[in-house]
Amino acid sequence: MPRPKKYVSRSDLGWGSSPASRADPRSGLVIHYDSTDQGLAGKDHSACLTYWRNTRNFHTGPSRGWADIGYSFMACPHGYVIEGRGLYRTQAAQPGGNSSHYSCTLATGPSDPITPEQINAVRVLREWLMEPDTSIAGTVLGHRDFISTSCPGDKAYRMVQDGTFAKAPDDSEGDDDMPQHRRFEKSGSQTLEPGKWASLAFDSRHDGETGEFYAVVGVEEKEGAYYDVSVGVVLEGVTPGAEVQIRATEYEPDGDGGWKIARNRPQNSPVHQGGMAHFTYSWKGNLAKGRRVRFRIAQFGESDAQVTSATTDVFYWPR
Ligand SMILES: [Zn+2]
Ligand SMILES: [Zn+2]
Repeated sequence: MPRPKKYVSRSDLGWGSSPASRADPRSGLVIHYDSTDQGLAGKDHSACLTYWRNTRNFHTGPSRGWADIGYSFMACPHGYVIEGRGLYRTQAAQPGGNSSHYSCTLATGPSDPITPEQINAVRVLREWLMEPDTSIAGTVLGHRDFISTSCPGDKAYRMVQDGTFAKAPDDSEGDDDMPQHRRFEKSGSQTLEPGKWASLAFDSRHDGETGEFYAVVGVEEKEGAYYDVSVGVVLEGVTPGAEVQIRATEYEPDGDGGWKIARNRPQNSPVHQGGMAHFTYSWKGNLAKGRRVRFRIAQFGESDAQVTSATTDVFYWPR
């Protein structure tokens, strides 16, 4: 992955190259926070730049007296990576690891949220630093792994420990012309009672998230989207000769915290052989704001059948 698309460089900030001494940190990335709540997630991105300038003034001022801002980078709640000392510089952020690891602050306090965009910014930064030029190890640590400190706060440290920051980024960040892509997979089996429609439940996502996913479009699209989805499903235990149907269904909020069917997309009836069915279908459509798309599936045999695996690729163009 090249330099993050959402990147604020030192020259964007009007800063020259960092006067800090040269280093070639290779051992990983260290996460930091601000010990005081900053509320940046609720403010415009310009507040992040003001914060960053103030931090540099503080770090180079009389109370710290450092050569430059202490950190290599900041990952802001709006999803930007903001350059501090940048590449190939010793830092002042984490004594014990200042020349062996890069540093990244979230600029959050104990009660500030850590936004999904911010998490993605750390992931994008990590992948970029792992490229051949800098080739850091993929290890992500917290400041408290070096010395006794509250940094990076309990919330962020849990994410350090559970591998949240070390996952692959959503590389569609900030690019509106290109279709965005998601993939959902199902490896656990799902029982289909005869003659009953069921929503297909996926259990993992391209970014490593696991859970129970029904909606494949519409979860994060705030203004609706044009979508193009395809799905492959394997069924076992279908009564020979029985019909199997799959459809993409758009749902909208029912006004009561749940979802109701807004419209069914055309359905298909794949032919199966010997009780096993493997089929692939695709749909395209314009999803209205607030709606979601699920796959629903039914089999019309004499007894229960199982969906044993499914994969869907989803391309969408947010409006
Ligand atoms: Zn720290
Ligand atoms: Zn920001």
